[in-house]
Amino acid sequence: MTPTNTITERGPTEFVWPPITLRLPNWVGEETGPPGGRFPTVEDRMALAIRLAERSVEEGVGAPFGACVFEIESGALVAPGVNLVMRENCSPAHGETLAIMGAQQAVGTFDLAADRLPPLELVTSAQPCIQCFGNVWWSGVKRVVMAASAADVERLTNFREGPLPAKWDSHLAARPPLPPVEVVQGILRERACAVLRRYHELGGFIYNAGAGDKALPHDEA
Ligand SMILES: [Zn+2]
Repeated sequence: MTPTNTITERGPTEFVWPPITLRLPNWVGEETGPPGGRFPTVEDRMALAIRLAERSVEEGVGAPFGACVFEIESGALVAPGVNLVMRENCSPAHGETLAIMGAQQAVGTFDLAADRLPPLELVTSAQPCIQCFGNVWWSGVKRVVMAASAADVERLTNFREGPLPAKWDSHLAARPPLPPVEVVQGILRERACAVLRRYHELGGFIYNAGAGDKALPHDEA
């Protein structure tokens, strides 16, 4: 029997492998308002990122992290992100990464530092993990603003952030020949930590892949 070619037997719009689609929940839009909404101060922007983290906990659909990409000068919201790891069965789907991906779709280029764009920033309720650090590195954002530190996240939730470089912020601040990425730390940190604490109190799932239940000792957090 001659093997069949499953690719040529399929129609032009039928693909062999599943499509990769990540959809932000509708409540994200309730919190952000329409695209382009203005958030004048860095605290306004962080308050939105933290509110997305808080709403994720309230909705019970994701880990307690939120992030947004803004235009630095105008404060216009370009794209929000929340953690969709569990909801979408996707370990890379962290809040910062969703915001970066959404921004790149919104502006129509993979390079958020493209000449035609105003300077853009990532505002995140918690310090980027090892993965999101890498995604920030390649994204083209000119600034990262964060609330809770990676140490806060690990201390308050037991999520693991991975082996970040000890001088991760210095690496971003000076990385020739690439343009620097300014790092601003500790904005509304206590408010972000309160959301992390709340997730822990509610017994929110810690999904560190491959760790199994033994690696989720909430009582040690
Ligand atoms: Zn991450």
